[in-house]
Amino acid sequence: MATINTNYNLLSAGYLFPEIARRCNVWQEHNKNQTLLRLGIGNTTEALPPYLVEAMKKKLDLLANRETYSGYGDEQGDTALRKALKDMYQREYGVSLEMTDFFVSDGAKSDAANLQSLFGQDNIVAVADPAYPVYVDSNVVGGRSHGFIESKGGYSDFVYLPCTAQTGFLPSPPSTHVDLIYLCSPNNPTGAVMNKQQLKAFVDYAIKEKAVIIFDSAYCQYISEEGIPHSIFEIEGAKKCSIEINSFSKNAGFTGVRLGWSIVPKELVVSNSKEGQINAMWNRRQCTFFNGASNIAQAGGIAALSPEGQKECDVLVQYYMDNARMIREGLESVGLKCFGGINSPYIWARTPNNMTSWEFFDYLLDVCHVVVTPGSGFGPSGEHYIRVSSYGHKENVMQAIASIKEHMK
Ligand code: PLP
Repeated sequence: MATINTNYNLLSAGYLFPEIARRCNVWQEHNKNQTLLRLGIGNTTEALPPYLVEAMKKKLDLLANRETYSGYGDEQGDTALRKALKDMYQREYGVSLEMTDFFVSDGAKSDAANLQSLFGQDNIVAVADPAYPVYVDSNVVGGRSHGFIESKGGYSDFVYLPCTAQTGFLPSPPSTHVDLIYLCSPNNPTGAVMNKQQLKAFVDYAIKEKAVIIFDSAYCQYISEEGIPHSIFEIEGAKKCSIEINSFSKNAGFTGVRLGWSIVPKELVVSNSKEGQINAMWNRRQCTFFNGASNIAQAGGIAALSPEGQKECDVLVQYYMDNARMIREGLESVGLKCFGGINSPYIWARTPNNMTSWEFFDYLLDVCHVVVTPGSGFGPSGEHYIRVSSYGHKENVMQAIASIKEHMK
Protein backbone atom coordinates (compact mmCIF):
# COMPACT_ATOMS: atom_id res chain seq x y z
CA MET A 1 0.00 0.00 0.00
CA ALA A 2 1.48 3.32 -1.06
CA THR A 3 1.55 6.19 1.40
CA ILE A 4 2.20 9.86 0.92
CA ASN A 5 5.24 11.80 2.07
CA THR A 6 3.50 13.27 5.12
CA ASN A 7 6.03 16.09 5.32
CA TYR A 8 3.86 17.83 2.74
CA ASN A 9 1.10 18.00 5.39
CA LEU A 10 3.44 20.06 7.55
CA LEU A 11 3.64 22.95 5.08
CA SER A 12 1.69 25.93 6.38
CA ALA A 13 -1.51 26.71 4.54
CA GLY A 14 -1.18 28.34 1.15
CA TYR A 15 2.04 29.49 -0.35
CA LEU A 16 2.16 33.27 -0.13
CA PHE A 17 1.51 34.07 -3.77
CA PRO A 18 -1.57 31.86 -4.23
CA GLU A 19 -3.12 33.63 -1.20
CA ILE A 20 -2.37 37.03 -2.78
CA ALA A 21 -3.90 35.79 -6.03
CA ARG A 22 -7.00 34.60 -4.16
CA ARG A 23 -7.53 38.00 -2.50
CA CYS A 24 -6.96 39.79 -5.82
CA ASN A 25 -9.51 37.55 -7.53
CA VAL A 26 -12.10 38.29 -4.82
CA TRP A 27 -11.39 42.02 -5.22
CA GLN A 28 -11.69 41.80 -9.01
CA GLU A 29 -15.03 39.99 -8.67
CA HIS A 30 -16.36 42.96 -6.69
CA ASN A 31 -14.68 45.59 -8.86
CA LYS A 32 -15.26 44.29 -12.35
CA ASN A 33 -14.48 47.49 -14.23
CA GLN A 34 -11.44 48.50 -12.19
CA THR A 35 -7.83 47.73 -13.01
CA LEU A 36 -5.47 46.31 -10.42
CA LEU A 37 -2.08 48.00 -10.23
CA ARG A 38 0.49 45.33 -9.53
CA LEU A 39 3.65 45.88 -7.53
CA GLY A 40 3.55 42.39 -6.09
CA ILE A 41 5.25 39.38 -7.58
CA GLY A 42 8.90 39.56 -8.68
CA ASN A 43 8.12 38.66 -12.25
CA THR A 44 9.94 40.49 -15.04
CA THR A 45 7.84 42.43 -17.55
CA GLU A 46 10.16 43.89 -20.19
CA ALA A 47 11.12 42.32 -23.52
CA LEU A 48 14.21 40.12 -23.78
CA PRO A 49 17.43 41.91 -24.82
CA PRO A 50 17.65 41.77 -28.66
CA TYR A 51 21.16 40.28 -28.75
CA LEU A 52 19.97 37.36 -26.63
CA VAL A 53 16.88 36.93 -28.80
CA GLU A 54 19.06 36.74 -31.93
CA ALA A 55 21.28 34.07 -30.34
CA MET A 56 18.24 31.98 -29.39
CA LYS A 57 16.73 32.38 -32.88
CA LYS A 58 20.00 31.20 -34.41
CA LYS A 59 19.98 28.17 -32.14
CA LEU A 60 16.41 27.45 -33.17
CA ASP A 61 17.45 27.60 -36.84
CA LEU A 62 20.17 25.02 -36.12
CA LEU A 63 17.57 22.77 -34.49
CA ALA A 64 15.31 23.17 -37.52
CA ASN A 65 17.94 21.59 -39.75
CA ARG A 66 18.74 17.88 -39.72
CA GLU A 67 22.47 18.47 -40.30
CA THR A 68 22.82 20.84 -37.34
CA TYR A 69 20.14 19.42 -35.04
CA SER A 70 21.15 18.37 -31.51
CA GLY A 71 19.12 16.59 -28.85
CA TYR A 72 20.01 15.99 -25.22
CA GLY A 73 23.06 17.88 -24.06
CA ASP A 74 25.22 17.39 -21.00
CA GLU A 75 23.17 17.33 -17.80
CA GLN A 76 25.69 19.72 -16.24
CA GLY A 77 25.22 22.28 -19.01
CA ASP A 78 26.83 23.18 -22.34
CA THR A 79 30.61 23.33 -22.12
CA ALA A 80 30.55 26.77 -23.75
CA LEU A 81 28.15 28.13 -21.16
CA ARG A 82 30.06 26.66 -18.22
CA LYS A 83 33.24 28.16 -19.63
CA ALA A 84 31.56 31.54 -20.13
CA LEU A 85 30.36 31.43 -16.50
CA LYS A 86 33.79 30.45 -15.21
CA ASP A 87 35.40 33.27 -17.23
CA MET A 88 32.81 35.77 -16.00
CA TYR A 89 33.55 34.92 -12.34
CA GLN A 90 37.27 35.43 -12.97
CA ARG A 91 36.83 38.63 -14.99
CA GLU A 92 34.09 40.34 -12.98
CA TYR A 93 34.66 39.10 -9.42
CA GLY A 94 38.28 37.92 -9.42
CA VAL A 95 37.07 34.44 -8.39
CA SER A 96 38.88 31.35 -9.73
CA LEU A 97 36.67 28.31 -10.10
CA GLU A 98 36.85 25.19 -12.23
CA MET A 99 34.38 24.59 -15.01
CA THR A 100 33.32 21.38 -13.28
CA ASP A 101 32.26 23.40 -10.22
CA PHE A 102 29.41 24.86 -12.33
CA PHE A 103 26.08 23.13 -12.90
CA VAL A 104 23.65 24.79 -15.30
CA SER A 105 20.00 24.39 -14.34
CA ASP A 106 16.53 25.54 -15.32
CA GLY A 107 16.67 28.27 -12.68
CA ALA A 108 17.65 29.14 -9.14
CA LYS A 109 14.32 28.07 -7.65
CA SER A 110 14.85 24.42 -8.56
CA ASP A 111 18.38 24.48 -7.19
CA ALA A 112 17.33 26.34 -4.03
CA ALA A 113 14.75 23.63 -3.40
CA ASN A 114 16.80 20.60 -4.47
CA LEU A 115 20.19 21.26 -2.88
CA GLN A 116 18.89 20.28 0.57
CA SER A 117 18.64 16.69 -0.69
CA LEU A 118 22.45 16.46 -0.49
CA PHE A 119 22.39 16.77 3.29
CA GLY A 120 21.34 14.58 6.18
CA GLN A 121 17.76 14.75 7.39
CA ASP A 122 18.94 15.56 10.90
CA ASN A 123 20.80 18.70 9.79
CA ILE A 124 19.72 21.87 11.57
CA VAL A 125 18.63 24.57 9.16
CA ALA A 126 19.10 28.30 9.68
CA VAL A 127 17.44 30.90 7.49
CA ALA A 128 17.72 34.62 7.40
CA ASP A 129 14.32 35.89 8.46
CA PRO A 130 12.53 37.14 6.34
CA ALA A 131 13.56 34.93 3.41
CA TYR A 132 12.51 33.65 0.02
CA PRO A 133 10.02 30.92 1.09
CA VAL A 134 11.57 28.12 -1.00
CA TYR A 135 14.48 27.60 1.44
CA VAL A 136 12.15 26.86 4.32
CA ASP A 137 9.48 24.90 2.44
CA SER A 138 11.96 22.59 0.71
CA ASN A 139 13.51 21.72 4.06
CA VAL A 140 10.07 21.01 5.53
CA VAL A 141 9.46 18.57 2.67
CA GLY A 142 12.97 17.22 3.26
CA GLY A 143 11.90 16.27 6.81
CA ARG A 144 13.88 18.80 8.85
CA SER A 145 10.95 20.32 10.72
CA HIS A 146 8.04 18.99 12.73
CA GLY A 147 5.70 21.66 11.40
CA PHE A 148 4.53 25.24 11.60
CA ILE A 149 4.14 26.80 15.04
CA GLU A 150 1.60 29.61 15.04
CA SER A 151 2.99 31.24 18.21
CA LYS A 152 6.50 31.31 16.68
CA GLY A 153 5.19 32.46 13.30
CA GLY A 154 7.62 29.95 11.84
CA TYR A 155 8.59 26.30 11.69
CA SER A 156 9.80 24.14 14.54
CA ASP A 157 13.45 23.05 14.51
CA PHE A 158 14.56 25.87 12.18
CA VAL A 159 16.81 28.62 13.48
CA TYR A 160 15.55 31.99 12.28
CA LEU A 161 18.18 34.71 11.99
CA PRO A 162 16.23 37.92 12.55
CA CYS A 163 16.75 40.71 10.03
CA THR A 164 15.08 43.74 11.56
CA ALA A 165 15.44 47.51 11.46
CA GLN A 166 17.81 47.14 14.44
CA THR A 167 20.12 44.81 12.49
CA GLY A 168 19.94 46.86 9.28
CA PHE A 169 17.87 43.94 7.94
CA LEU A 170 21.00 41.79 7.93
CA PRO A 171 21.45 38.45 9.70
CA SER A 172 24.23 37.62 12.15
CA PRO A 173 25.73 34.15 12.45
CA PRO A 174 23.71 31.90 14.78
CA SER A 175 24.63 31.81 18.45
CA THR A 176 24.06 28.02 18.51
CA HIS A 177 25.22 25.21 16.24
CA VAL A 178 23.46 24.82 12.86
CA ASP A 179 24.38 22.78 9.79
CA LEU A 180 22.79 24.49 6.77
CA ILE A 181 22.54 28.26 6.43
CA TYR A 182 20.54 29.98 3.69
CA LEU A 183 21.64 33.50 2.83
CA CYS A 184 20.45 35.77 0.04
CA SER A 185 22.21 39.00 -0.90
CA PRO A 186 20.94 41.29 -2.38
CA ASN A 187 18.02 40.12 -0.37
CA ASN A 188 14.58 39.18 -1.45
CA PRO A 189 12.43 40.57 0.20
CA THR A 190 14.26 43.32 2.13
CA GLY A 191 16.64 44.59 -0.56
CA ALA A 192 19.47 44.62 2.02
CA VAL A 193 23.00 43.66 0.96
CA MET A 194 25.79 42.03 2.96
CA ASN A 195 29.27 43.51 2.78
CA LYS A 196 32.49 41.48 2.81
CA GLN A 197 32.93 41.67 6.58
CA GLN A 198 29.39 40.50 7.25
CA LEU A 199 29.75 37.58 4.83
CA LYS A 200 33.17 36.73 6.26
CA ALA A 201 31.58 36.34 9.71
CA PHE A 202 29.29 33.65 8.25
CA VAL A 203 32.14 31.93 6.41
CA ASP A 204 34.19 31.84 9.63
CA TYR A 205 31.19 30.44 11.51
CA ALA A 206 30.55 27.80 8.84
CA ILE A 207 34.18 26.65 8.82
CA LYS A 208 34.23 26.46 12.62
CA GLU A 209 30.95 24.52 12.81
CA LYS A 210 31.51 22.49 9.63
CA ALA A 211 28.27 23.99 8.36
CA VAL A 212 27.32 24.76 4.74
CA ILE A 213 26.16 28.15 3.46
CA ILE A 214 23.76 28.10 0.53
CA PHE A 215 24.20 31.55 -0.93
CA ASP A 216 21.56 32.87 -3.31
CA SER A 217 22.89 35.71 -5.44
CA ALA A 218 20.06 35.83 -7.98
CA TYR A 219 19.97 39.63 -7.70
CA CYS A 220 23.71 40.35 -7.75
CA GLN A 221 23.48 42.26 -11.03
CA TYR A 222 21.39 44.87 -9.20
CA ILE A 223 24.25 45.87 -6.90
CA SER A 224 25.05 49.52 -7.58
CA GLU A 225 27.28 50.35 -4.60
CA GLU A 226 31.02 49.71 -4.53
CA GLY A 227 32.56 46.99 -2.38
CA ILE A 228 29.52 44.72 -2.10
CA PRO A 229 30.37 41.10 -3.01
CA HIS A 230 28.51 39.62 -5.98
CA SER A 231 29.63 36.10 -5.12
CA ILE A 232 30.31 34.44 -1.78
CA PHE A 233 33.48 33.07 -3.32
CA GLU A 234 34.95 36.58 -3.12
CA ILE A 235 35.33 35.77 0.59
CA GLU A 236 38.43 33.87 1.62
CA GLY A 237 37.66 30.33 2.77
CA ALA A 238 34.17 30.27 1.21
CA LYS A 239 34.96 27.40 -1.17
CA LYS A 240 35.36 25.10 1.85
CA CYS A 241 31.87 25.79 3.15
CA SER A 242 29.60 27.28 0.48
CA ILE A 243 27.37 26.57 -2.46
CA GLU A 244 26.17 29.44 -4.64
CA ILE A 245 23.01 29.63 -6.71
CA ASN A 246 22.28 32.20 -9.37
CA SER A 247 19.99 32.88 -12.29
CA PHE A 248 19.50 34.60 -15.63
CA SER A 249 15.92 35.44 -14.62
CA LYS A 250 16.35 38.87 -13.15
CA ASN A 251 19.15 40.42 -15.22
CA ALA A 252 18.35 38.87 -18.61
CA GLY A 253 14.58 38.59 -18.21
CA PHE A 254 14.69 34.77 -18.35
CA THR A 255 11.89 34.22 -15.81
CA GLY A 256 9.97 32.43 -18.57
CA VAL A 257 12.92 31.21 -20.65
CA ARG A 258 14.34 29.42 -17.54
CA LEU A 259 18.08 29.24 -16.93
CA GLY A 260 20.28 29.36 -13.83
CA TRP A 261 23.34 27.77 -12.33
CA SER A 262 24.83 26.47 -9.13
CA ILE A 263 28.43 26.33 -8.01
CA VAL A 264 29.41 23.36 -5.85
CA PRO A 265 33.19 23.67 -5.31
CA LYS A 266 35.21 20.51 -4.93
CA GLU A 267 36.84 22.00 -1.82
CA LEU A 268 33.46 21.90 -0.03
CA VAL A 269 33.47 19.31 2.74
CA VAL A 270 31.24 18.46 5.69
CA SER A 271 31.87 16.25 8.71
CA ASN A 272 31.40 12.94 6.88
CA SER A 273 32.50 13.81 3.34
CA LYS A 274 35.77 13.89 1.44
CA GLU A 275 36.93 16.68 -0.88
CA GLY A 276 35.03 16.49 -4.15
CA GLN A 277 32.32 14.22 -2.77
CA ILE A 278 29.56 16.82 -2.50
CA ASN A 279 30.39 18.06 -6.00
CA ALA A 280 30.17 14.44 -7.24
CA MET A 281 26.88 13.92 -5.39
CA TRP A 282 25.31 17.00 -7.00
CA ASN A 283 26.60 15.78 -10.36
CA ARG A 284 24.95 12.43 -9.70
CA ARG A 285 21.75 14.08 -8.53
CA GLN A 286 21.52 16.25 -11.64
CA CYS A 287 22.33 13.36 -13.98
CA THR A 288 19.62 11.24 -12.35
CA PHE A 289 16.84 13.79 -11.77
CA PHE A 290 17.47 16.34 -14.52
CA ASN A 291 18.12 16.14 -18.24
CA GLY A 292 19.85 19.44 -18.78
CA ALA A 293 18.55 22.96 -19.36
CA SER A 294 16.93 23.87 -22.69
CA ASN A 295 19.58 24.20 -25.38
CA ILE A 296 17.81 27.30 -26.72
CA ALA A 297 17.91 28.95 -23.29
CA GLN A 298 21.59 28.06 -22.95
CA ALA A 299 22.37 29.77 -26.27
CA GLY A 300 20.70 32.85 -24.78
CA GLY A 301 22.77 32.46 -21.61
CA ILE A 302 26.03 32.38 -23.56
CA ALA A 303 24.93 35.54 -25.38
CA ALA A 304 24.03 37.20 -22.04
CA LEU A 305 27.61 36.70 -20.83
CA SER A 306 29.19 38.25 -23.95
CA PRO A 307 30.14 41.95 -23.89
CA GLU A 308 27.17 42.92 -26.14
CA GLY A 309 24.78 40.80 -24.10
CA GLN A 310 26.04 42.15 -20.79
CA LYS A 311 25.55 45.70 -22.03
CA GLU A 312 21.94 45.00 -22.98
CA CYS A 313 21.26 43.19 -19.70
CA ASP A 314 22.61 46.21 -17.83
CA VAL A 315 20.09 48.41 -19.64
CA LEU A 316 17.30 46.05 -18.56
CA VAL A 317 18.45 46.10 -14.93
CA GLN A 318 18.65 49.91 -15.04
CA TYR A 319 15.06 50.07 -16.27
CA TYR A 320 13.84 48.22 -13.19
CA MET A 321 16.13 50.22 -10.92
CA ASP A 322 14.61 53.45 -12.27
CA ASN A 323 11.25 52.01 -11.23
CA ALA A 324 12.72 51.16 -7.83
CA ARG A 325 13.84 54.75 -7.30
CA MET A 326 10.43 56.07 -8.32
CA ILE A 327 8.67 53.66 -5.94
CA ARG A 328 10.92 54.46 -3.02
CA GLU A 329 10.57 58.22 -3.51
CA GLY A 330 6.80 57.87 -3.91
CA LEU A 331 6.34 55.79 -0.77
CA GLU A 332 8.60 58.05 1.26
CA SER A 333 6.61 61.07 0.07
CA VAL A 334 3.50 59.69 1.84
CA GLY A 335 5.49 59.12 5.01
CA LEU A 336 6.33 55.43 4.73
CA LYS A 337 9.70 54.35 6.07
CA CYS A 338 11.48 52.55 3.23
CA PHE A 339 14.55 50.33 2.90
CA GLY A 340 16.16 48.60 -0.07
CA GLY A 341 15.71 49.61 -3.70
CA ILE A 342 19.34 50.73 -4.01
CA ASN A 343 21.10 47.42 -4.74
CA SER A 344 17.96 45.44 -5.36
CA PRO A 345 14.66 45.70 -7.23
CA TYR A 346 12.70 45.39 -3.97
CA ILE A 347 11.62 48.11 -1.57
CA TRP A 348 10.87 47.03 1.99
CA ALA A 349 8.42 49.44 3.60
CA ARG A 350 7.20 49.64 7.18
CA THR A 351 3.40 49.63 7.49
CA PRO A 352 1.82 52.83 8.88
CA ASN A 353 0.16 52.92 12.31
CA ASN A 354 1.56 49.52 13.23
CA MET A 355 -0.83 47.77 10.84
CA THR A 356 -0.06 44.12 10.19
CA SER A 357 1.36 43.24 6.80
CA TRP A 358 -1.94 41.72 5.64
CA GLU A 359 -3.97 44.67 6.99
CA PHE A 360 -1.87 47.09 4.97
CA PHE A 361 -2.00 44.74 1.98
CA ASP A 362 -5.81 44.83 2.14
CA TYR A 363 -5.81 48.62 2.61
CA LEU A 364 -3.63 49.17 -0.46
CA LEU A 365 -5.78 46.74 -2.45
CA ASP A 366 -9.14 48.20 -1.39
CA VAL A 367 -8.27 51.90 -1.29
CA CYS A 368 -5.43 52.33 -3.83
CA HIS A 369 -6.10 49.26 -6.01
CA VAL A 370 -2.42 48.42 -5.65
CA VAL A 371 -1.09 44.91 -5.02
CA VAL A 372 2.05 44.48 -2.92
CA THR A 373 3.44 41.50 -1.01
CA PRO A 374 2.84 41.19 2.74
CA GLY A 375 6.18 40.96 4.54
CA SER A 376 4.89 38.41 7.07
CA GLY A 377 4.68 35.87 4.24
CA PHE A 378 8.49 35.78 4.19
CA GLY A 379 8.95 34.90 7.86
CA PRO A 380 8.13 36.15 11.37
CA SER A 381 10.44 39.19 11.16
CA GLY A 382 8.61 40.34 8.04
CA GLU A 383 5.53 41.28 10.08
CA HIS A 384 4.62 45.00 9.83
CA TYR A 385 6.40 45.32 6.48
CA ILE A 386 5.41 45.05 2.86
CA ARG A 387 7.59 44.24 -0.12
CA VAL A 388 7.12 46.43 -3.17
CA SER A 389 8.48 45.09 -6.43
CA SER A 390 9.86 47.27 -9.19
CA TYR A 391 9.09 44.68 -11.85
CA GLY A 392 6.47 46.34 -14.01
CA HIS A 393 6.04 48.58 -17.02
CA LYS A 394 7.16 52.08 -16.06
CA GLU A 395 3.75 53.56 -16.90
CA ASN A 396 1.98 51.05 -14.63
CA VAL A 397 4.41 51.67 -11.80
CA MET A 398 3.82 55.43 -12.18
CA GLN A 399 0.07 54.87 -12.06
CA ALA A 400 0.35 52.71 -8.93
CA ILE A 401 2.52 55.25 -7.15
CA ALA A 402 0.21 58.10 -8.22
CA SER A 403 -2.73 56.19 -6.74
CA ILE A 404 -0.90 55.64 -3.43
CA LYS A 405 0.05 59.32 -3.32
CA GLU A 406 -3.52 60.40 -4.02
CA HIS A 407 -5.13 58.17 -1.40
CA MET A 408 -2.53 58.29 1.36
CA LYS A 409 -1.66 61.99 1.41
N1 PLP B 1 16.10 33.18 -5.58
C1 PLP B 1 15.47 34.30 -5.19
C2 PLP B 1 15.96 35.01 -3.99
C3 PLP B 1 14.36 34.77 -5.90
O1 PLP B 1 13.73 35.87 -5.49
C4 PLP B 1 13.91 34.06 -7.03
C5 PLP B 1 12.74 34.49 -7.80
O2 PLP B 1 12.00 35.36 -7.49
C6 PLP B 1 14.58 32.91 -7.39
C7 PLP B 1 15.67 32.50 -6.65
C8 PLP B 1 14.12 32.10 -8.54
O3 PLP B 1 14.87 32.30 -9.66
P1 PLP B 1 14.64 31.46 -10.98
O4 PLP B 1 13.67 32.23 -11.83
O5 PLP B 1 15.99 31.36 -11.58
O6 PLP B 1 14.10 30.12 -10.62
